[in-house]
Amino acid sequence: MHVYLKAIGCRLNEAEIESWAAQFLQRGHRIASTPQNADIMVFNSCAVTGEAARKSRQQVRRLHRENRTAKLVMTGCYATLEKTEAATRLGVDLVVDNADKAQLVQRVEQELALPALSIAASEPGEAALFARGRQRAFVKIQDGCRYRCTYCIVTLARGAERSRAVSDIVGEINGLIAQGVREVVLTGVHVGGYGSDTGSDLASLLRAILADTDVPRLRLASVEPWDLPPGFFGLFENPRLMPHMHLPVQSGSDSVLRRMARRCRTADFKTLVSEARSAVTDFNVTTDVIVGFPGESEEEWRETLDFVDALRFGHVHIFAYSPRAGTKAATLPGQVDQRIKKQRSRELHTLAGRHKRSTLAAYAGREPAVLWEGDGEPLEDGTRRFQGYTPNMLRVAAVVPESERLTNRICRTRIEALSEDGSVLIGSPCR
Ligand code: SF4
Repeated sequence: MHVYLKAIGCRLNEAEIESWAAQFLQRGHRIASTPQNADIMVFNSCAVTGEAARKSRQQVRRLHRENRTAKLVMTGCYATLEKTEAATRLGVDLVVDNADKAQLVQRVEQELALPALSIAASEPGEAALFARGRQRAFVKIQDGCRYRCTYCIVTLARGAERSRAVSDIVGEINGLIAQGVREVVLTGVHVGGYGSDTGSDLASLLRAILADTDVPRLRLASVEPWDLPPGFFGLFENPRLMPHMHLPVQSGSDSVLRRMARRCRTADFKTLVSEARSAVTDFNVTTDVIVGFPGESEEEWRETLDFVDALRFGHVHIFAYSPRAGTKAATLPGQVDQRIKKQRSRELHTLAGRHKRSTLAAYAGREPAVLWEGDGEPLEDGTRRFQGYTPNMLRVAAVVPESERLTNRICRTRIEALSEDGSVLIGSPCR
């Protein structure tokens, strides 16, 4: 059977898709690169915002249009929060709740009468990841979250914290390395909460992975800025652990953070960032900021701008607050006017862009090791442009002769310039 897999939303959704793709391959099925060639389509949905929910519905309709005969499986946060809607109005053949995701492949085989082929029938060795045109592997380490940030629907859709066993994660990573994967990104809902239900913690997991695998590059996806064990940043002395962390601060105003029910105040966050930066040179901290949270006064907004200015992040993901039905924040008084949100987003964009440009400009003449991803883009003059990332997650582009393939190679790369918009480094692989 040919299985097409699609996810929208967070890295965790992507990690789950990659794991199912590998399982389907192992069970003798094939991965379809387009919906048209599929017998089964699996869609991992998102519901983090009203807009994401709309996109999830839209995606289901598109899959139906692109292949009217294939069976459609819907899972993820939208399917979990809107089961009936998914099964009836959206005409999905099988709805798999977030809590049941670990059994998704078996349920598809049983409930959609997919013949379970013998392992022998499977194509040896080709990483499902590469079959889907990707090089960096996302690996799920835990699910769920015990906190209740007032704007967050994920904690409701994903349930309580559940950690995978260290041996499972190490086993999966060794399997990926055997297939040629060079970088693994650990992901979850509350990554810092890893082990809270098994008596372990994130530091112990990282130590085990670095000791029991040869993964060349180990990276963390987004990590809430709390629950990190003492001495955590000491782990980054190991050059295989990439010196970058995405720590969502969400606001630079303590009164806003209180209304968000966040577990981290600005002073704690500053301490965390300075610990990270003193642990390893060039440690890159990136973050998320929600603009226009209910009740956000001009004064609170100034606090956020001053905070971002003081911390000089490598990159800031900017989200204009949008009320999500089912969350406490959606019912809070003082919803901020759309025009004010737009104005504040522009201000923050300008400030963060300036910091990013100066962070990147400091790399001129340096030679970081870049992992090149994708097959490159052919250019009119017969050359090809590739993109990749430095260990501390700075994006780099390089133009090389058509005959040269950089896909999935880690090369020392001489940085020569900055892109016009100041967001990408321009370099050439050292020969
Ligand atoms: S920590 Fe907060 S924002 Fe993050 S998943 Fe949990 S409730 Fe949501």
